[in-house]
Amino acid sequence: MAASHIPSDVPVLPADLQPSDGRFGCGPSKVRPAHTNALAASPLMGTSHRQAPVLNLVASIREGLRALYHLPSDWEIAIGNGGSTAFWAVATTSLVRTRATHAVFGEFGQKFADETLAAPFLSPSLVISAEAGTVATLVDERALSAFAQDEGPDVDLCAYPHHETSTGALSPLYRVTPRSAGVAADALTVVDATSIAGGVTADVTATDVYYFAPQKCFASDGGLWFAFLSPAAQERARTLRGQADRWMPQFLDLSVALDNSVKNQTLNTPAIATLIMMDEQIQWMLANGGLSAMEERCRASSGVIYEWAKAHPFASPFIPREEWRSPVVATIDFDEAIDAAYLARVLRANGVVDVEPYRKLGRNQLRIATFPSVDTADVEKLVASIDWVIAQRV
Ligand SMILES: *Cc1c(COP(=O)(O)O)cnc(C)c1O
Repeated sequence: MAASHIPSDVPVLPADLQPSDGRFGCGPSKVRPAHTNALAASPLMGTSHRQAPVLNLVASIREGLRALYHLPSDWEIAIGNGGSTAFWAVATTSLVRTRATHAVFGEFGQKFADETLAAPFLSPSLVISAEAGTVATLVDERALSAFAQDEGPDVDLCAYPHHETSTGALSPLYRVTPRSAGVAADALTVVDATSIAGGVTADVTATDVYYFAPQKCFASDGGLWFAFLSPAAQERARTLRGQADRWMPQFLDLSVALDNSVKNQTLNTPAIATLIMMDEQIQWMLANGGLSAMEERCRASSGVIYEWAKAHPFASPFIPREEWRSPVVATIDFDEAIDAAYLARVLRANGVVDVEPYRKLGRNQLRIATFPSVDTADVEKLVASIDWVIAQRV
C-alpha cells in the first residue's frame, strides 16, 4: 500500500520482505485488524456510558483483567480518563502522604518523579537514579543506604517502572519493605506497568498499585488508565481524601475513581472505542493462553531481534545485561558505519513504521515494539528488510 508514495531516492522493499503488518511502534501500537473490525461492527459506539451495554463492556474488561492476573478478591481495579500521565497526578494527590521515592532510569520514571517533586504539599521526593540502559531498584544496597542516610521525612510511596519504554529496560517486580530506616512502616509500592502489562506474567500482589494504559500491549487506543489496587492502597486513597488540608479535585481523587469503577463507570465520559478494542484484546489474550502465552509470543519476537543483533558486528542490544532486556521493546544500537535514521526513513517510506528511537535518547538506534499483537513472522520479515536496506547502500 505504501509503495505508490515512495520518493524516488528511497529503495522499494521487495514484496517478499514486506511484513504483513508494518506497525512496530511502542504506543499507540498495532491494533489487530479483527479488533478494528469488531469496533466498526459494534452497536455501542455513540451510546450512553451510563446504560447497561457500556456498563457490561466495562464489567467484561474488569473481569477479564482479574482473570488474566488472578487478582485476589480484596483487590480493586480503578479506571479513569487521561492515560498513565493522568494517573501520575492522581497518585501524587491520592496516594503520597508526605513523601515519595522514585527509581528513575529513563524518561517515564522521571516524569512521575517530576510530578511528586513539584507538588507543594509534599516533601521533596527522594530520587534514586541510574543511567539510561540500566535499571535502578529501590531495594538494593545503594537505595537502602540512601534511605537510611537521608534526613528528610520517611518515604511512604515507593515508585518505579516495571518497564522503562524509553530505553527498553525491564525491572524486576518487587515490594519495598520497611527493613530500612527512612521507609514508613505502611509504605506503598506503586508500579508503572504501562507498556509491559499484558506482555509478561506478573505477581501483582508483590506491589500495592500496578497501573497501565490500553495503547501498548492491550492494543487499543489511548486516553484511559487502569490501576490494580491492594487493600492498603484503597485505604490510603480514602484516608487522604478525608484530610482537610489537601486540595483534591474530583478528577484526581482516586477514591472517586474507585467508587465509580466498582459500578463499572468512570467519573466522566470515557472513549467507548478504546473500551471496545481493549475488551477484544483481553478476550483474545484469554482465549490464546493468558499472560504466560503472551510472554512466550513476546519473547519469541524480541528474541528474533536480539539474535539478529548478535549475528551482526555493527549492531548490539542497547541494554547490556540480558536480564534487563525487554521482551516487548527491543532497542538496538548501531555503530557509525550504519545510519539508523536512514534505515528508519526507508522503512517508513515502505510502510514499516515507528521503529525510530525514543526522541530524547538521541542514539544511533532502532526501537522495535514486539507487543503481543505483533506476529513473530513479521519481526522476521522486519530484520530481513533491515538487512536488505543495508545491503542496498554498500
Ligand atoms: C507510554 C507510557 C506512559 C504514558 O502513557 P500515557 O497513557 O500516554 O499517559 C507512561 N509510562 C510508561 C512506562 C509508558 O510506556
